[in-house]
Amino acid sequence: MNNNNFPSEPEMVQPSLNGGCTQAFTTGLTSLLGNMNGQCVDSPITYWPGYLKLVIPETGNRYLMVGDGLVFTLMNEKGIVLSGGARHIRSQFAPYPGTPKYRSKGELLRINNSAAEFVKMWSEDFTKYGSQTGVSCALVVDTKEGYCLEGANFIYGDPSNHAIHGPMTDQVFVSANFFISKRLKEMAEGGIGAGYTRAKRMWQLLIDRQYDSITMQPVRQTQTGDKMPPFVRGGGITPAYFMKCLRDHGNINPRDGSLSCYVPEERGQGALCIHGLWEYTTNAYFGVARTEYTDLFTCEWITPNQPCISPFLPVYIGINELPKALGTTEAYELFEKLRALMDYHPEYRDDITQHWTGFEIRTFEESTLAEAKAAKMVDGGDKNEARSILTEFVARKCNEAMATCQKMLDFLNDLPILEKKLPKES
Ligand SMILES: [Zn+2]
Repeated sequence: MNNNNFPSEPEMVQPSLNGGCTQAFTTGLTSLLGNMNGQCVDSPITYWPGYLKLVIPETGNRYLMVGDGLVFTLMNEKGIVLSGGARHIRSQFAPYPGTPKYRSKGELLRINNSAAEFVKMWSEDFTKYGSQTGVSCALVVDTKEGYCLEGANFIYGDPSNHAIHGPMTDQVFVSANFFISKRLKEMAEGGIGAGYTRAKRMWQLLIDRQYDSITMQPVRQTQTGDKMPPFVRGGGITPAYFMKCLRDHGNINPRDGSLSCYVPEERGQGALCIHGLWEYTTNAYFGVARTEYTDLFTCEWITPNQPCISPFLPVYIGINELPKALGTTEAYELFEKLRALMDYHPEYRDDITQHWTGFEIRTFEESTLAEAKAAKMVDGGDKNEARSILTEFVARKCNEAMATCQKMLDFLNDLPILEKKLPKES
């Protein structure tokens, strides 16, 4: 989870030092081959760009990002998947003297072919220039391994300004509004931030699941052999379970959270999907770095809006173009209407979550069929056809979600404003 990490953030709304920014990174022992990497994004409504951008450069790797900017870069066709962002505590550190020439994460995705390469360049740049926001955190995974990167601008031209944790494999990993590195803690951490309890919650959800499932579920053969594993490994964190975690409300009622303005108990810091007045979880996403047909099947599952009221929609890196609703703010805006209606009809929130959970389970099952079809095309030498199959599938699921959201809006709009009540007995 993170917030306040938009490069163009207006000064007038700059938060106070360490103000409530939280980040949680997870990568884990997934039920799929490859790694998963994701986060909730908390932001004031006006900060979230609300649309995706598929970048297909003339040279280098194609990659996917949110809107236009530097921070919400998502994945590339080599299977590098990112999550994380940065905290604005620039008032604490002197800015880099001069013009920093670090490469943007988008640029790193364009030119890097593995998580290790990404980490090397990030480290070189951070050593020299630090981070534009004063503090940076990121989790970088590819199909093989993952790294946690963290740093603060307390010194320039010195690698001790940052830490690299990894490579890690087969782990569940959570970071939040605190550093893991002891050195950075001493230098740059003012105290354990609001993200701590949220990270704990995520850890709890993942680690419980991991221990239980990995010992219980037998490995089973798949119909398509090693090339197309949905669940070769057996056990672990499934995408559907990960989705559930990212929209978890802990023991906080979302309505109570909405009434709050940074009172931690009311705001639900132990929850992953938080609700607040000026800032709340605007969406959630995770990428799955896929070991097979990496340049096609590596996939970002992303909600167009708040994760408890909107579905995780798959966006494969191999598609030809984004569905219009996701490539513009159309999907975001439609689901914004739903989010607004939840303020009047919070009693329907659970039903809506429930519906999207069913939608996602179906989507995941359908996705394995679409992948099998696309894989057949690639094996037959027709990669363009494979791209078309994925493009069509991604668009279809997006369109289905849009139509369903509209039905939910119609239903909620037809509800009476008030219900008649029987007169109270005296
Ligand atoms: Zn929620």
